[in-house]
Amino acid sequence: MTDSPYPHLLEPLEISGTTLRNRVIMGSMHTGLEDRAKNTDRLAAYFAERARGGAGLIVTGGYAPDRTGWLVPFGAKLTHRFEARRHRRITSAVHAEGGRIALQILHAGRYSYQPLSVSASSIKAPINPFRPRALTGRGVRSVVRHFVRSAKLAQEAGYDGVEIMGGEGYLINQFLSARTNKRRDEWGGSPENRRRVAVEITRRTRDAVGPDFLISFRLSMADLVADGQTWDEIVALAREVEAAGASLINTDIGWHESRVPTIVTSVPRAAFADVTGKLAQHVSIPVAAANRINTPDVAEDILARGDAQLIAMARPLLADPEWVRKAERAQPDRINTCIACNQACLDHAFVNKHVSCLLNPRAGRETELVLLPTRRSRTIAVVGAGPAGLSAAVGLARRGHAVTLFEAHAEIGGQFGIARRIPGKEEFAETIRYYTRELEELDVDVRLGTRASATDLREYDDVVVATGVAPRVPGIPGVDHAKVLTYAQVVRDGAPVGARVAIIGAGGIGVDVAEFLTTDRSPTLDLAEWKREWGVSDDESAPGGLTTPVPSPSPREVFLLQRKTSRIGVGLGKTTGWVHRAALKAKGVHEWTGVAYDRIDDDGLHVTLDEGRTRRTLEVDSIVLCAGQESVRELVDELEASGTNVHVIGGADVAAELDAKRAIEQGTRLAARL
Ligand code: FAD
Ligand code: NAP
Ligand code: SF4
Repeated sequence: MTDSPYPHLLEPLEISGTTLRNRVIMGSMHTGLEDRAKNTDRLAAYFAERARGGAGLIVTGGYAPDRTGWLVPFGAKLTHRFEARRHRRITSAVHAEGGRIALQILHAGRYSYQPLSVSASSIKAPINPFRPRALTGRGVRSVVRHFVRSAKLAQEAGYDGVEIMGGEGYLINQFLSARTNKRRDEWGGSPENRRRVAVEITRRTRDAVGPDFLISFRLSMADLVADGQTWDEIVALAREVEAAGASLINTDIGWHESRVPTIVTSVPRAAFADVTGKLAQHVSIPVAAANRINTPDVAEDILARGDAQLIAMARPLLADPEWVRKAERAQPDRINTCIACNQACLDHAFVNKHVSCLLNPRAGRETELVLLPTRRSRTIAVVGAGPAGLSAAVGLARRGHAVTLFEAHAEIGGQFGIARRIPGKEEFAETIRYYTRELEELDVDVRLGTRASATDLREYDDVVVATGVAPRVPGIPGVDHAKVLTYAQVVRDGAPVGARVAIIGAGGIGVDVAEFLTTDRSPTLDLAEWKREWGVSDDESAPGGLTTPVPSPSPREVFLLQRKTSRIGVGLGKTTGWVHRAALKAKGVHEWTGVAYDRIDDDGLHVTLDEGRTRRTLEVDSIVLCAGQESVRELVDELEASGTNVHVIGGADVAAELDAKRAIEQGTRLAARL
């Protein structure tokens, strides 16, 4: 144990007759592949890759114990033997790689997106149009039986255990909380009655599966909603599920309807590990910490100080299936660290698209997107070290091609290098670190500070043009005034910005720049400050763990403008857009829509509003352009004319609706093909 780079993280653990080879749980993430039988082999390959990468225990996405518990109509469920037989392909694939796997049983309750939904009481969730039917006493008892039936079927299918989803605001959590449980029978009223369904399910499951089968209980450590459970109720629940036979407690925090962010990139790393530590003191079974834990160092620290005995991570193992192996080899700097953007995982899950990863487009596509060693190594120039060029260069070098990477700037990253300077997006620097290390390891010839010309590129078998985008300068009269700056000048180059600012363009970058200009804090995220800003209470008597938010004041007055009349920020990610909108509101950013830009002069920015009825002059010191992007493609025509094999990817290909997800996927797919 003393030679281990991460002695606590990599230490095996014996629970309920099962040995976990280390303390890493791949937490449950619904990929969408669970919902259709035809995707079973894809799902098996996805889990097998994570087992091969060393995960100690994998937990599947949620399977409903009956149709009322479906997440979506005809979604994943485990109710019949024939379904269990199919799962054997998954469990065998994971066991063949030395892994362990548990099936999560999830009854969505009032989060079920269908008219058959049920809950403790008939109270509609703010995030679901369907009002649930209140279960009768008989109905509750049959839901308990259905959980047990799914657990037995999981055991028959070869799973090493089950996880009972008792958090995140799903059915069991709806019974636990006074917010959603208004019953007057034995399943409601007193905290003890509200806990009964969780405890009965755990106890009867243990009776049915015997002692040598893992039962993880997923427990909400704070509901982060009004009238949520109190701390005493949560501690009592943890103790009672332990007594009822749970092997471990896996934690989570916040309901889906909660207005406190818990997993987006602006949440400080391991923000809730201290709460896990407090809970762990009250039980003797192992407790897993979760949420915003993405590096071996952070995980090791939590375990070393005794805040938890296990670490649950879902997204970090999507981003890098070899996360554990790299920790074992003492190479944490080679991990492709999850940046908590949610763009290809949760944002997909919430719109019923298959889950993948912005950084690792192979996630969920292991059988389809394969980078095999090449049989004919070629010399390939990649021009531009933004996300598109980096993913292409690394993928091509991994396949055995001789790659030269040209980058005009002194550092790699492209627009991602600007993104990482936005407060709350500090994680994006990890991606640049990862690519820096991979380029070194793969012996890519990196030429920084070198703007490639067509002449420089003639000698290569293939040229990949990944020259990206440049900020658009709109044709507003006076746009060349000294008070006008591009977002790149402001964020990357540190150009001084005055006390009153207008931002032209309110897309993803405009919103980010508004946060940049209204935030006055050190580059590292401070947990106490973050809790204060979002109203997260450490007071044990606060129901739901909430208090009144106290935003830090903005150092500037900011006007965020767009020509469209739609609400600002509607185009942002489903799981992150609301966080940005709430942050802008807290900072008092003025949001103007339906704006026509007339001219810029010494007085400021002259605009017309209300469909031409109102003229205004915004007396601002600075105007920042965030008016979209244009492709940088000068090289393409010249190279094509000279007969070079040219491949254009990322922003250089199409600037509209470009994001890093598309840039990296295009780079990876090209690398797989060439
Ligand atoms: P670029 O990133 O533009 O990279 C192109 C590179 O090519 C540059 O480094 C450039 O210097 C180099 N180059 C150009 N010409 C030459 C030449 N002739 N020779 C050598 N080198 C050359 N996307 C997301 O998905 N999620 C986000 O949260 C997000 N946030 C963002 C926040 C900000 C503030 C910004 C600015 C962008 C953000 N983006 C985000 C967008 C994302 O960064 C871009 O979509 C992505 O970087 C585009 O990748 P690319 O490789 O196509 O182009
Ligand atoms: P964008 O989302 O397309 O927004 C461009 C903005 O500029 C819009 O508000 C547009 O609004 C305005 N605009 C366009 N042409 C203009 C013109 N000629 N004059 C004045 N205004 C004009 O692009 P972006 O903000 O530059 O972001 C680039 C990409 O990075 C996006 O695809 C985005 O997805 C990605 N990104 C993502 C995130 C994230 O959090 N996921 C964050 C940052 C960036 P009007 O036309 O209404 O004026
Ligand atoms: Fe992490 Fe973003 Fe990948 Fe999701 S898409 S796993 S949040 S890096």
